[in-house]
Formats: sequence, structure tokens, C-alpha cells
Amino acid sequence: MTAAHYLNGARLEAGSRSLPPLASPVDGTPLGCVRVADAAVVGQAVQSAQAAFKLWSQVPVKERVQVLYRFKALVEKNINDLARQVTAENGKTTAESAAGIQRGIEIVEYAASLPQLFAGEILEVSTGVDCYTRRFPLGVVAGITPFNFPAMVPMWMFPMAIACGNSFILKPSEQVPYTSLLLAELLKEAGLPDGVFNVVQGDRETVEAVLDHPGITAAAFVGSTAVAKTVYDRGIAANKRMLTLGGAKNHLVVVPDADPIITAKNVVSSAVGCAGQRCMAASVLIAVGDCDHIIEAIEQEMRGMACGKEIGAIISARAKERIEGYITRAAERGAKLRLDGRNQQRPGNYVAPTLIDGITREDECANDEIFGPVLSVLRVRTLDEAIAIENANPYGNAACIYTTSGATARYFEMRAESGMVGVNIGVPVPRDPFGFGGWNASKFGPGDITGKDAIGFWTKTKKVTAKWTAKSTNWMS
Ligand code: NAD
Repeated sequence: MTAAHYLNGARLEAGSRSLPPLASPVDGTPLGCVRVADAAVVGQAVQSAQAAFKLWSQVPVKERVQVLYRFKALVEKNINDLARQVTAENGKTTAESAAGIQRGIEIVEYAASLPQLFAGEILEVSTGVDCYTRRFPLGVVAGITPFNFPAMVPMWMFPMAIACGNSFILKPSEQVPYTSLLLAELLKEAGLPDGVFNVVQGDRETVEAVLDHPGITAAAFVGSTAVAKTVYDRGIAANKRMLTLGGAKNHLVVVPDADPIITAKNVVSSAVGCAGQRCMAASVLIAVGDCDHIIEAIEQEMRGMACGKEIGAIISARAKERIEGYITRAAERGAKLRLDGRNQQRPGNYVAPTLIDGITREDECANDEIFGPVLSVLRVRTLDEAIAIENANPYGNAACIYTTSGATARYFEMRAESGMVGVNIGVPVPRDPFGFGGWNASKFGPGDITGKDAIGFWTKTKKVTAKWTAKSTNWMS
């Protein structure tokens, strides 16, 4: 099945070229292919979004969010179908797919509370003079998303953007084009007017057409750092408001007083959940002092996990090969493979949990985003050394400490150069109203993509200064 675009409330097959056919990461089942939206298709999407914006932006916010209440109920009703679609195209387990959608629902809930958050401010700034603010939507806005959360990452963006009164154009990853169409149809069923939510399928050509189109006023992006930086620069050059989230290399620090069982379970779920293909995944475990008993518990926890059951598939055969290359080279350099997940003899792109012990600070496994179920162990003597390693890495998405000491946790939390820090939590995703966003090379642009900051990103404020001179006739007396 060709992955259609979704314009003005209907599917549309159009575009100048097709990408190579997609196969399910789970078992290789053919899925269809993507026709790339070129500048003409993007232009058509902008036109339909602009027409819809004229009416949608005039609907009071209390009415706009009624669509989101109905959308939430529909997503909940259809969560199994949505999760099956996410699994078919992305490869994660259906439990993981459902959990991602559930997290998306939380964002819808937050966006539905917009009437409680949207009011402006007023102050008498001098005698008889009031200054007040109103929020306005930006117009037609866009979201460009990665392969690893086909439902959740788009849901970080569009519920708040449309609740704020914008029209939205989504450009999903060309590796997972289908889930977005199901979301589009549920929004329509929820009563969203045609043209408020649109999907354009494609690759770099489509992204560039979106960034260059003068009718699009803002864009959010989530993906790898190199692309996040390029997309940010191109959007800014085209005078758009931009926020782009990039890749990550997350360090989890463990000290000897950590609870071995709780820590092992938590570290493993962070490292191998979603097959390690998430920007919050644990990638390096920095063991401070003698943590052998904890590393042993981590190995035991990982050992029992089966591909296709607890461990989902890798997005593509190419990505699987890339991950296996890291494991092979680590072994060649003399690191100890306590668990080696290569060469899985089954259909689909699977890599089993891999635990690499004894890497050095300079090793590529300590520095590159591997994006697979691979945890590398780096041993140091002091907590300060661990913090220095974490802070020297160019990314700044997540960092975490495992300890039973509040003082140790606080010492780490205050010094870690990361936008999201976990204490005994390996995937420290902030939940609304707290915003999601890293530091350093993990994010370009101000503010977070979810939470309170999202309201600021998807709106502009007008400041009014008003003076009403009292007339001589007093109608009140
Ligand atoms: P990617 O950067 O390859 O692709 C992301 C999007 O950009 C896709 O829609 C793709 O079509 C488009 N794209 C790709 N190359 C482009 C180019 N040269 N110019 C313009 N657009 C281009 O990322 P991916 O492989 O789909 O996703 C994995 C990456 O996303 C990882 O690095 C991961 O850490 C990151 N990620 C970050 C977060 C976060 O919140 N920071 C969340 C999820 C994923």
C-alpha cells in the first residue's frame, strides 16, 4: 500500500518519486512505499492549512479543545489497532507501542486543559492605563518527526499546536509513514475541521520544501543531531520560529550503595527498552568504585530477555548491521562481551541485549549514539570522575544516578550537564506540565517541546496598552 499524504481531510497519492519499498522490521513483511511530497504537494498542503486556519483560529479555545477530548477517547478506543500499526512499521513490541501512545494521550490531556492556561495578564501600569496580553496562534506550523516513536513524537507537537489555534502539517519519518494517517483519521472523526491537520510523506526533499515555504511560520523537529542542526539553521534562515531536538548519549552513574536489584531492573529497562532506540536510553553505565555485584545483577536481568518477546526489532537491516559493527569492534579492541546480542537466527532485524564491560573513555562505545540494545560499562574511581565524563560528552539529554544516599543524588543532580536528570530512574522523561528537552547538542532553540513552554512556542503574544478617558457624563449615577 502506498503511504498516502493527508490533505484537507482526505488521503492523497501524489509526488514526483517513490522511495524503496518498506518491509516490517518484525518479520520482513512488505508494507508498501512512500511517494515523496515535493514542493508542489507541500504547497497544496499549505494552501489547505491556510484556508482552514482562517476559521479554526477564530474558534474559541474552549471549543477547540472539545475536539481533543473526543480525540483522546478515540485514541483510547483504538489503542490496540494503533499499537499494532506502530509495531508493524517500527518493530517495537506491542506493549511498548501502547505505552508510547499512552504517553501521547497524556499530552492530549495537557493540551485539552489549555483554557486553564491560555489567559493573558493584565496590570494597571499608570493611572488609568492598562497593559494586557492576548495570545494568538502563529498560522500554519509544521512538525518533522523521527522513526522511533511514530505516534508519540507527533503527539508531542500537534495536540498543543492545534489547541493553540494553528493549522498543522506533519512530515513523519519515511521509515514509519502509516501511523500518522490513522491519527489523522481519528482527528477527523473527533470533529477537527478539514485542513487543520495534514500529513506530507517524504524525505529530505519534503523537509526542505517545508522549511523553505514562506506560508509556514514555525516548525518543530525531532531526530538526529546533525539533521536537527541543519534543519534549525535552514528554518531560521527562512525566518521561521524553530525548535529542533537532536540525538543523545546518556550516561547512568551507579555508586556502590545503590540497591542492586532495583538498579539492575531499572538500568536494563532503560538500556534495552524499545531495543535501545530512544533518545532517553541508557547507553553507558559509569560504575564508581566496586559495583561488581550490581553489574552482575544487570547481566542476570538482561540474560533472560528474548527477542520478539521482551525485545523489539531494530528499524532496518542497515541499522542492525551498524549496531553489530559497534559490538564487533569493541570485542576486537579487547572489551569483554558479557552478553553478545549479534547474529540472532530468526526473521526480522533483531539484536539481543548486549553488555560490554571494560571500555575506556576514548572508546567509540563511550561516545557515539549507538541506538541499539547495547550497554557499555566504564569503570571509574570517584563520582567527580563520573560527572566529568558525563559532562564532557557533547549531548545533554538524560543523565541518571543510582544511589540510596540523598546527598550523593543531590551532588550529582546539581552538576550533571543534562536537561533531564534521573535519580534512580533511567528514563527520566518529565511529565506535563514539566517540559521535555535536553541541553547542548541535544536541542537547538529555546524552551522545551512539551509542557508549559509548548504554549509559548506555538503562539505569539500581543501586548495592548489602553487608556480610557472618563467622559463628563457618568452613566452609573
Ligand atoms: P533522522 O534525523 O534521520 O530523521 C528525522 C527526520 O528528519 C525524518 O523525518 C527524516 O525524513 C528527516 N531527515 C533525515 N535526513 C534529513 C536531511 N538531511 N535534511 C532534512 N531532513 C532530514 O532521525 P531518525 O533516525 O529518524 O531518528 C533517530 C534519531 O532521533 C536519534 O538520533 C534519536 O536520538 C533522535 N531522537 C531524539 C529525540 C529527542 O527528544 N531529543 C526523540 C526521539 C528521537
